[in-house]
Amino acid sequence: MITPAKISPATLAKLAKLGIHHRADLLLHLPLRYEDETHLAPIETLQAGETAQVEGIITHNEVAYRPRRTLVCRLQDNSGELYLRFLNFYPSQIKQLAVGQKIRAIGEARMGYYGMEMVHPKCRAGGEDTPLQQSLTPIYPTTAGLAQAVLRKLINNALETIPLTDTLPAALRQKLHLADFADSLRLLHNPTPDIAASALEERNHAAWQRIKFDELLAQQLSMRVHHQERNKRKAPKLAAKKLLTQQLLQALPYQLTKAQQKVLKEINLDIAKTHPMQRLLLGDVGSGKTVVAALAALQAIENGYQVAFMAPTEILAEQHYLKLQEWLQPLGLAPVWLSGSLKKKDKTAAIDHIAAGTTQIAVGTHALFQTSVTFKNLGLVIVDEQHKFGVQQRLALRNKGKATAPDLQKSIEPHQLMMSATPIPRTLAMSYYADLDVSTIDELPPGRTPIVTKLVSDARRAEVFERVRAACLAGRQAYWVCPLIEESDALEVELQNAIATHQQLTEALPELKVGLAHGRLPPAEKAAVMAAFKAGELHLLVATTVIEVGVDVPNASLMVIDHAERMGLAQLHQLRGRVGRGAAESMCVLLFMQPLSELARERLKVIYENTDGFIIAQQDLQLRGPGELLGARQSGVAMLRFADLTEDEDLLEQARSVADELLRDAPDVARAHLQRWMANKHDFLHV
Ligand code: ADP
Ligand code: MG
Repeated sequence: MITPAKISPATLAKLAKLGIHHRADLLLHLPLRYEDETHLAPIETLQAGETAQVEGIITHNEVAYRPRRTLVCRLQDNSGELYLRFLNFYPSQIKQLAVGQKIRAIGEARMGYYGMEMVHPKCRAGGEDTPLQQSLTPIYPTTAGLAQAVLRKLINNALETIPLTDTLPAALRQKLHLADFADSLRLLHNPTPDIAASALEERNHAAWQRIKFDELLAQQLSMRVHHQERNKRKAPKLAAKKLLTQQLLQALPYQLTKAQQKVLKEINLDIAKTHPMQRLLLGDVGSGKTVVAALAALQAIENGYQVAFMAPTEILAEQHYLKLQEWLQPLGLAPVWLSGSLKKKDKTAAIDHIAAGTTQIAVGTHALFQTSVTFKNLGLVIVDEQHKFGVQQRLALRNKGKATAPDLQKSIEPHQLMMSATPIPRTLAMSYYADLDVSTIDELPPGRTPIVTKLVSDARRAEVFERVRAACLAGRQAYWVCPLIEESDALEVELQNAIATHQQLTEALPELKVGLAHGRLPPAEKAAVMAAFKAGELHLLVATTVIEVGVDVPNASLMVIDHAERMGLAQLHQLRGRVGRGAAESMCVLLFMQPLSELARERLKVIYENTDGFIIAQQDLQLRGPGELLGARQSGVAMLRFADLTEDEDLLEQARSVADELLRDAPDVARAHLQRWMANKHDFLHV
């Protein structure tokens, strides 16, 4: 028996890289694909694109130098011949493939210059004494220096020695037509000879269905457990007193939409409870989330608690600050502004106000969760564009409520309201966001005019200049968004680009006042440019993607996005949402550079054909997978390894209802199942 003690530290380190920390983890390290070494295909029958194993005699062996050093061999069996090509090879391979050798090769056939060929096939000596495999050969996800054979041996050992008890009761398996766990696992690691590789690779074989179901069930269970635990924690009761909130409602120049009223009510009720709210407020760009957040903040304030209002960028945070000042000052409240770029003196003053409780609401960027910031009595945390923040950052803010309220019960924590304009497709909401409560604003304020979207090739840039000129001379305003740069020195290039574009536009449009806003501008200057644009003193605002989120200038009705092919769907949708906020007919011009990659073409098509953020998000999920939608890189959310949210919606539905059932009727079963799947995976949990 191989015990961890017998595995070398170097191998252990490589296994850890694959997420394998315990022997039981080996069981769930499942093959990525399979190679079929169970039979030999006659060379004549090979089809391009097909992976096959062939056997024959080497009849030619040559190192060719055009276009680059390549080992070219010809393999012949009694049906035909095939070229084997190697771009990287060792001298030993030239020998192994010497003329006259009997060779077995496995690889993907394709049509090459001289006829059918395989590039970098796996080769070994052939002949009668080399038995064929009895079943498909599993190919595991691995890492450099960890051979398939080593992994296979470790996994098979784990399969033989670890009990594979089924975590699900037989009755439940029968009801759901689920295969047995042990059988499924064994079959996936060592398929029986009668199974075709395609049946397993499509992942709709019963064995895969079982594993995927188990994975989804574990995810659902952990989310539910987390949700239940939250309900055991304490938060301040922020009852709706309708004092300050009523005053703001009366001062607003508009009525809340039905949708705004509905979500506000959900929030009102939630924060009046004594356990922490964790609510996600979803609403498309321009749906009016800010005022809802402000009203929630006022409810906390009228109960004597403080509010932290956080946004991911300085521009957005500052805009919220200005808006809140406009709304709250007449009510006798004094918001403070806190950002990393404040002068030391001002920062200290802000921090003092927050600690002393002389301010009721602090608005800012991530500077708000620095350790030097302590609240007197934080009751509500509002996070705009929540997906831009990492889990750690939100945790830090939540803990501020605890650490700094000595007069309150120790475990008390603030309510959390997270906002996002990135709609969450149903399956994502059901899985990764299952522990959050979601409120959706599904209606835009009245009086918006639809935005016309145009796709224009960069070759017609001059025409776009004319369009900008015409719109601005007609009294409207425009944005010109500079291309996104992805290289390592992105910021510098982005800056140069923005400056060059600004100059180009200033020269081409001498009769217009053109402003420039980019990430490197000192905050005061940036604020001045934004204010001038807002006041209508600038016709055209050239900007890097700093304006991506939240900027609100209703008179702006033309948006030009330069190099739109480089941007993601969510970003394009957000940017486009900056126009169409007033009564004027609005237009978004997507300037793109030829040639377009397949993905870029697909994205531009989606954004051109759709205006509904929900549909765009759904398409985005299909194009990119959930990782990027969730901002997984920074949030640390563990991805599903086997189930696929775009394909396994039915399984997810089942898993969801079974999770509820188990937690209610069979908590032991739930615990055992979680233990198998989640023993070390706290990263499935949200904060
Ligand atoms: P987002 O949801 O994208 O954050 P905002 O809160 O910035 O949207 O609101 C977008 C615009 O809609 C703002 O100009 C805001 O004043 C306006 N607005 C919000 N609610 C209403 C409403 N009920 N009626 C009319 N205009 C509204
Ligand atoms: Mg907003």
